[in-house]
Amino acid sequence: MTVEGGAVMVRVEQIPLHQIRRPLPRQNDPNKVQALMESIREIGQQEPIDVLEVDGQYYGFSGCHRYEACQRLGKETILARVRKAPKSVLRMHLA
Ligand code: ADP
Repeated sequence: MTVEGGAVMVRVEQIPLHQIRRPLPRQNDPNKVQALMESIREIGQQEPIDVLEVDGQYYGFSGCHRYEACQRLGKETILARVRKAPKSVLRMHLA
């Protein structure tokens, strides 16, 4: 799916987990991860995580619990809302 709104282009697609860089690792709540694993196993991932695409590379800053849940379920991909962004936006996230 592709949505064009002005200069912003967003698409929702399955992205290989290993292609998503997570520059700011966060401490996850293991109970949340466990609950998400059960739910995702049962009904699938209901809401995509948000990722930035900068120069063809994917970066994730949120959706940490869904990311870990999918990883621990042994999934190769995760449903993501991908927003293309320039390096300046990435720098903002890293600041
Ligand atoms: P995260 O760090 O991934 O955002 P949270 O525990 O803060 O984790 O929030 C869980 C999110 O996962 C919610 O936004 C919820 O809509 C989403 N979600 C996607 N798929 C599922 C699912 N199968 N069961 C429960 N929540 C789900």
